[in-house]
Formats: sequence, C-alpha cells, structure tokens
Amino acid sequence: MSGDAMVDVRGVHKSFGALHVLRGVDLRVGAGEVAVILGPSGSGKSTLLRGINHLEKLDRGYVRIDGELIGYRRTGGKLRELKERDVLRQRAHIGFVFQNFHIFPHLTALENVVEAPLSTLRRPRREAVAQGRALLARVGLADKADQYPRQLSGGQQQRVAIARALALEPKVLLFDEPTSALDPELVGEVLDVIRGLARTGTTMIVVTHEIGFAREIADTVVFMDEGLIVEQGPPPAVLDSPAHERTRAFLSKVL
Ligand code: ADP
Ligand code: MG
Repeated sequence: MSGDAMVDVRGVHKSFGALHVLRGVDLRVGAGEVAVILGPSGSGKSTLLRGINHLEKLDRGYVRIDGELIGYRRTGGKLRELKERDVLRQRAHIGFVFQNFHIFPHLTALENVVEAPLSTLRRPRREAVAQGRALLARVGLADKADQYPRQLSGGQQQRVAIARALALEPKVLLFDEPTSALDPELVGEVLDVIRGLARTGTTMIVVTHEIGFAREIADTVVFMDEGLIVEQGPPPAVLDSPAHERTRAFLSKVL
C-alpha cells in the first residue's frame, strides 16, 4: 500500500464474554485497493468487518476511514463514543454487502436502491431515481427495476444489494461472503459485478472462500486465524508460497 490508507484498522480487540474474538488486528487498505480476507469459520472475519463500520463496538484499538475515526471522537486525548445519529452519518460512507442480501422484501429493486439516497441524503426524487436506474444498469439489472425481491433470483437480489450499497457513493465497500448463500450457477454473475467494481478503483474489503477470485482481484490477500492476521501480501505470495503453516493448512483444505 502506498500513501495514506483509506481504511486504517489499528490494534483492534473484541471479546464476546470470555471469547476473545479479535486479538489485535492491524489492517491498512489504500484508496482504490482491494483486500481479500480468507480464513476458517469462526476466525473473526465477520466481526472485523462489522467492527469497521461500528456495527460491532470495539473493546480496544480504532478504525479510521479516509482519516476519520469511526464511532468515536477524540477530545483531550480521550475517545468518546459518537451519538447514534453521527455513527449513521459515518456509516453512510461505508457500504456493506451481507451474505444474505439484506434488501427490503416489500420494495422493488429500484425502490431498494433509492431508499437511502432519499431518506439519508435527502436527494431530490428525480435525481435519486436517475442514479438508481444507472446503478441497476451497472449491475446488469436495468430490466428488473420494478421487480420485487421474491421475483428475483438470489444472484439478482445480491446485485440489487450491491447497487443499494453503491447508491451512497461509499468510500469503501465491505463484502461478507457475498456469494456463500447462492446456488453455484449464480455465483459468477455476482463475482462479475464485484470484479467490475475492482477495475474501476472502488476500495473494497472482501471476505470470501473463492480463492481463484481472490487471486484475480486482490491487491492484498489477508489470512486470518483465531482473531489475528497471520499473514498478508500480494496473492502469489500468500496463495502460492505462504510463510505460515496455518495458512498452508487452510489453503490445502479449500483449494
Ligand atoms: P467468521 O466470520 O470468521 O466465521 P465471526 O466473526 O462470525 O467469524 O465469529 C468469530 C467468533 O465470535 C465465533 O466463535 C462466533 O461464534 C463468535 N461470535 C460472533 N458474534 C458473536 C456475538 N454477537 N455473540 C457471541 N459470540 C459471537
Ligand atoms: Mg463470517
């Protein structure tokens, strides 16, 4: 990574009761870069992503996006928690795409995409709708604008979720296993959209088990295990000649 980080995660710890889930995570992602996080189930990948946009409150450490501290402000050397309203404003710059789509079932594809620009950004409807249609076209769903989620395949619903995340023009997009809930034949269309975003310089952190895809789009592959980043580096370094036995063991299972 060169220059200032768009995403800067420092010394992050998180426990759930006695379970120490994140044990000192440091991660920097530069503007326009793609980091792909791999790691066994339970290693803390989702908790890390949720910590980045303050859906999960951290016990120690901090996250900055584009230089701005997330969830806190610093006054006189002390960190104070921001009000919910301010956290929501910050979160608007951090797109999040979940495994299980998270779109509103009672809204059409277009209504899902324009909902946040209208309510959060108070954009004029005409402008939001024009942008929403353009985003649906970008994810290959120009002809599905008026369909409801139940009328769409899983892959199409996930592409609506991506268009919805893009509608707030986020500084960074977080993907938590975006294709894990899809039937195998629908995985490709969602990966194609994410691939397109990577090409146009969107800063992204992607948790996935799709190793071939990681190799293709990642600037940095990050391997997590037991709440720590075990190693990270360019795809060939981590995927072809991992330095750590735990990375080798994981890759031998998923490849
Ligand atoms: P991953 O995404 O890598 O599979 P997670 O971040 O989801 O891992 O979970 C890491 C560990 O934290 C797991 O043992 C999980 O059961 C636990 N965990 C996650 N969220 C909670 C929660 N809200 N309460 C209690 N335990 C949790
Ligand atoms: Mg997870």
